[in-house]
Amino acid sequence: MVGLSSERPDQPDAWEERRRTRGEGWQWNRIQSEPCPQCGDHPAALAPVSLGALAVERTALWRQFLAEADDTYLRRSPGLAVFSPLQYAAHVRDILRVYTDRMVLGREEDSPIVPIFNPSHEEFERYNRLNAGELVADMEAQAHRLQETAEEMDPGNWSRIVINDRGVFGVYTFTLAGLACNAVHETHHHLLDAKGTLQPTKSTVA
Ligand SMILES: [Zn+2]
Repeated sequence: MVGLSSERPDQPDAWEERRRTRGEGWQWNRIQSEPCPQCGDHPAALAPVSLGALAVERTALWRQFLAEADDTYLRRSPGLAVFSPLQYAAHVRDILRVYTDRMVLGREEDSPIVPIFNPSHEEFERYNRLNAGELVADMEAQAHRLQETAEEMDPGNWSRIVINDRGVFGVYTFTLAGLACNAVHETHHHLLDAKGTLQPTKSTVA
């Protein structure tokens, strides 16, 4: 399974930990049918075939942001358990790659089980030293892969499923359309995180 970690951590991964810290009770896999309560994005309302092109549009906004932002700002975490803008960018690049891989896998195999995607702390440290221009070029390449995969998808395949076994965090079932929704939403949501303009929700504290 290309690009997928085979590890099953017993500790919360950085993203789960961060969501817990911020009191985000909303389960992110619900993006495959509902709007995001934080940023309002609702990719499930769109035709799945269009989602790859939307991801490409959104990576263009990342390119603009990364080109205009101060390099020191890009590499600085604004607070405890919050990633730097460059780390968010690398995470988005990874999500576009991993979720496209999962769409391809789910198209070719019946209900495959994929593990949690969980880069190490050291990997996130490395992300913070990446060249922003090279990183965004990689992000764009992954978004184009998602676009090609979406536009080539047989319409009957969008409802095929992939099972994401996240160990202690639960087992989530995604349709292939839902995987595309997640990837395109993360691309938008984390740009707001990186810009520091996302409003934390107050109503979903667990
Ligand atoms: Zn969102």
